[in-house]
Amino acid sequence: MGKRVLVYGSFVVDLTSRSNGLPVPGQTVLGKSFQLGPGGKGSNQAVAAHRAGADVTLVTKLGDDVFAKVALDFYEQEGMDVSHILIGRNMETGAALIMVDEESGQNEIVVVSGACGQITSRDVEKARPLIESADFLLLQLEINFDALLAVLRIAHKAGVQTILNPAPAADLPEEMLRMVHIVTPNETEAQALTGVAVANKADAQKAAERFFRKGVKNVIITLGASGAFATDGIQSELLPRVPVEAVDATGAGDAFNGGLVMALAEGRDLFTALRYGNVTGALSATKPGTAPSMPSRPQIDALYQETYGKLD
Ligand code: ADP
Repeated sequence: MGKRVLVYGSFVVDLTSRSNGLPVPGQTVLGKSFQLGPGGKGSNQAVAAHRAGADVTLVTKLGDDVFAKVALDFYEQEGMDVSHILIGRNMETGAALIMVDEESGQNEIVVVSGACGQITSRDVEKARPLIESADFLLLQLEINFDALLAVLRIAHKAGVQTILNPAPAADLPEEMLRMVHIVTPNETEAQALTGVAVANKADAQKAAERFFRKGVKNVIITLGASGAFATDGIQSELLPRVPVEAVDATGAGDAFNGGLVMALAEGRDLFTALRYGNVTGALSATKPGTAPSMPSRPQIDALYQETYGKLD
């Protein structure tokens, strides 16, 4: 069994419609299909790490409404621990209203964080023993900022290895970045945080230097179909993508982070964990959706071996 991973992050229910064209303000269009499913970066990454074989606990906050059941039913079906999930009385579960235009492939999304934007300091205190006893903590930016900072401070003080996926892109104070062992932006988020547009290894290295100056210890930048970059300040590597037939890359970043943290929890070094992230992200891109597209451990191991050879 690997070490203990804690994901403290968001759940939102994804409500997705598909139509020919998107409505302009005031217009109603008839849709072709509708789907409801589990989403939210925290939840997606926890599911990815769980399916990848990590010993993972998720803390998120749901409302006391019908959408909370979507989350709880899904976690139970996955065999995930739901005992630390918070329910906010008189709150709504977060929701993402996603409209996809089938003709152009474009979308319009409104995300309402609901309960996972209203995590109180009492909620955080309740999880203190859980945070302090974790080996790895994986965070994103979809919960309220004060809660995020409080969780990170507890983890940092307790010597927990912290991984921050700074998504969606936002400005971050240096206090936060100084407490981060590994930051895992995609190229857009890396640019928002460092001002460097990342198109190649030299750019990634330059962006990483800026993160190092802000106090981050290790930097990984995911580059979509161009692969992923990692550096620990001494060694750097840009891995090409794993060639797969990609049908939908939504959730690939979440899969990447789940695969990465699983490997770290199993004692792998940064560059081996980078390969696990790269394989897990690629596999998730071969299936539509986010959480349901996360690959299983046997699928990850098979593609890992095929791509990088056998591990000891
Ligand atoms: P995000 O979803 O956060 O924007 P990326 O698009 O950078 O994240 O994707 C995360 C990772 O998933 C990439 O670094 C890569 O490992 C993998 N990935 C994404 N798209 C593809 C693809 N088309 N083929 C293979 N791997 C992919």
